[in-house]
Amino acid sequence: MSSSFISLVKRISSQRLCLFLALGAAATMVACGIQDTSDQSMEADEPWNWSDEFVRSAVDQVRAGRDLNPDSWPGGARVAVLLSYDVDNETVQGLRTGNISIGPLSQGQYGSRVALPRVVKLMNEQGVPSTFFFPAWSLKLAPEQADLIQESGMHEIAAHGWIHELNTALDGPTEERLLRQAVDAIEEITGTRPVGYRAPSWNHSPNTLRIVRDIGFLYESSLMADDRPYELVQNGEPTGMVELPVEWILDDAPLFNPRGNSYMNPRDVMQVWIDEFDKAWEEGTMFLLTMHPHVIGHRSRIIALEGLIEHMKSREGVWFGTHEEAARWVRKQAGMD
Ligand SMILES: [Zn+2]
Repeated sequence: MSSSFISLVKRISSQRLCLFLALGAAATMVACGIQDTSDQSMEADEPWNWSDEFVRSAVDQVRAGRDLNPDSWPGGARVAVLLSYDVDNETVQGLRTGNISIGPLSQGQYGSRVALPRVVKLMNEQGVPSTFFFPAWSLKLAPEQADLIQESGMHEIAAHGWIHELNTALDGPTEERLLRQAVDAIEEITGTRPVGYRAPSWNHSPNTLRIVRDIGFLYESSLMADDRPYELVQNGEPTGMVELPVEWILDDAPLFNPRGNSYMNPRDVMQVWIDEFDKAWEEGTMFLLTMHPHVIGHRSRIIALEGLIEHMKSREGVWFGTHEEAARWVRKQAGMD
């Protein structure tokens, strides 16, 4: 968070005794309702009265900087396909909230027991390098997942928090401790230190980017300011951190919840992803798809993924790579190394 933003927050707090909570990139404030006496009201629940400085400081905490889309991808390809799997398993089936219930936990175990092997088999058969983002606990509960993923030598294992904690609800030291111990645990199990970070639930606290930079990650993949890779800017300063952006359209979880209100037939979802890919191909950019083994790894859904891969392979100039390979490539093309 910028010092000007912090000082503004402190000013509001001290002048009006308001409780201020900065959640994620946007500022969410709970007003105390004390009467304003200044010319320009800075009441927390009156955003229409906020000063220019305050709004800009809130927005500028983390911003998209320069476009890092390369002229071409490895091998002269016009489009990059980055498939990622967030291997959440039990962590999102009760562990992250502490709401322990045996039925949902069994759905989490389906992830490591059935779905991940099915997904890895498909990726290996298709020769598609992929990135697997792990909350450390998901790997600690079923470390054999690492062996399976690493067997081919073409996939990447990256970090996705400790127990899928809600980082926006944590203070800075706790968030940092959890991410550091997650990286250590993943390295201990896989033998390789992860270089990529994806925030659990795709959000940043005001401290996340600073922590990710301090730990020395190569890239970040949780934000949504573009379809193309870009450089993250923190409080107006370019960071040298590559962002590989995600998007809810390009995520299996919301669309495949049979008990949710946005359920879609897997074959219809495949068509949405094909359209996203076709446009990326046309524009010469990047297609990054986030999936979860315990979601996409069911029989009726893996068929949709197979169909998508077959479609992508039918086009010329398509490069399939891990997030790490993509990040290294764009850094090199942009002269960042
Ligand atoms: Zn997740």
